[in-house]
Amino acid sequence: MKTAAANAGTYSDYLKDGKDFIDDAALKAALSAPAPSAVRVREILARSLEVSEALPPEDAAALLAVTAPDLLEEIYQAARDVKRKVYDNRVVTFAPLYASNFCVNNCLYCGFRTGNEGAVRRKLSMAEIRSEAEALAGRIGHKRIVFVTGEHPATGAEYIAEAMKTIYSVKAPTRRGFGQIRRVNVNAAPMSVEDLKILKAAGIGTYQVFQETYDRALYAKLHPGDTPKADYRWRLHVMHRAFAAGIDDVAIGALFGLNPDWKFEVLGLVAHARELEARFGIGPHTISFPRLESADGTSLPAESLNNVSDAHFKKLVAVLRLSVPYAGIIVTARERPEIIREVIGMCTQRDASTRIGIGAYSERYGGQEAERQQFMLGDTRSLDEVIGELADLGHITSFCTSGYRCGRTGDHIMKLLKSGHESRFCKLNAVLTFREWLDDFASDATKVKGEVLIKKEIAEIRARTAHFPPDTVKMLEAYYARIGGGERDLCF
Ligand code: SF4
Repeated sequence: MKTAAANAGTYSDYLKDGKDFIDDAALKAALSAPAPSAVRVREILARSLEVSEALPPEDAAALLAVTAPDLLEEIYQAARDVKRKVYDNRVVTFAPLYASNFCVNNCLYCGFRTGNEGAVRRKLSMAEIRSEAEALAGRIGHKRIVFVTGEHPATGAEYIAEAMKTIYSVKAPTRRGFGQIRRVNVNAAPMSVEDLKILKAAGIGTYQVFQETYDRALYAKLHPGDTPKADYRWRLHVMHRAFAAGIDDVAIGALFGLNPDWKFEVLGLVAHARELEARFGIGPHTISFPRLESADGTSLPAESLNNVSDAHFKKLVAVLRLSVPYAGIIVTARERPEIIREVIGMCTQRDASTRIGIGAYSERYGGQEAERQQFMLGDTRSLDEVIGELADLGHITSFCTSGYRCGRTGDHIMKLLKSGHESRFCKLNAVLTFREWLDDFASDATKVKGEVLIKKEIAEIRARTAHFPPDTVKMLEAYYARIGGGERDLCF
């Protein structure tokens, strides 16, 4: 572990007059501004719908200040419209793979913390990781995972890279074809440029690190002791190091519920997105906003729960959606199904069939109580149930992972997202990967719903001749037929 002084050398170039990009006073001033007029709100919504760069924090603060029910409805509708415009009606699903709960940090809100002496510590071996990947790819039907570890020398970059290679090598037989994890995203410690290069070489999808809270005084209180995580700025600049390492697909997030002033965290995320855009020309690929949940070995969550009400949660999702219009927006299974239904039209990704125990997908040990380590889940439904419900709501589940494999990342994908072109590739790949999933994993009931949806999607593609020329439609039909014959992983 490096000292804070040594870490400072890695981000000093990014400071301006000794200050980082979180301007506490400016963000707080924006939040104390009076509620905006309806005219101003509509002007902000119109700008968001242009899908250019992230909005200034002042605009996000203005949207957060709206309380009039009619105007709030306009905000929600605009958030759904932006989602449609950029990502169409697709929802990408994934599962987290918890590989280790060893951690050198002592975050007061987390069950993995060193202070939790009752925690049973475990780190998966490569053979166990393979079993997890086989269960996820062969039995459940996931194609995309987030590989999660605590921060510990035993689970550093080398371990994660080896795990990624193991996961990518799995080819699990399914009903009609075979299943594979085609994209491994990583949620782990903020690393050095050297370590991030190791992950890049191993084929990382998205590198995900959440700041937890952008409020530095609260951050210091929640991360006590001389631990790596205690260094706010080392964490704050991790994505700068990711870009330096050649990783241009990055994800940011905050843990809502830690800060009673939850609006500050929204502005922190927006400021973070703008910093990455301004500095590297590429904003975050996704933004996450998990709400604090109870966990074993902490006392904090129980005190802090409900800091962010359901109504406020819906508002923050909408404002993030509108403020960073090109970004993927992730709602997680921490939330209850009824809340997810409320916000899914503004979101692009969710997890499903989620298990948070170490080794839980292959071993099926215990229920959630046995897994109650980092937090509790609100939605424990299976992927099949979730996909069925998404189909009922008119969303097609996409298992597409072709973007980064075809070089559509970073600057390239930003341009496609902002111009609305990415949704064309996505629509075609959503149809193809959904076809695979229906053939390989769907229950009878979900298959019926899925067939209706997929026919509607194909009809729409055929009708939108300006977007999908005849050659493209022909290719789609050929791929579709080949997938029906058992071929897999055909994409645009
Ligand atoms: S939040 Fe992350 S860094 Fe903190 S104790 Fe939990 S696993 Fe470790």
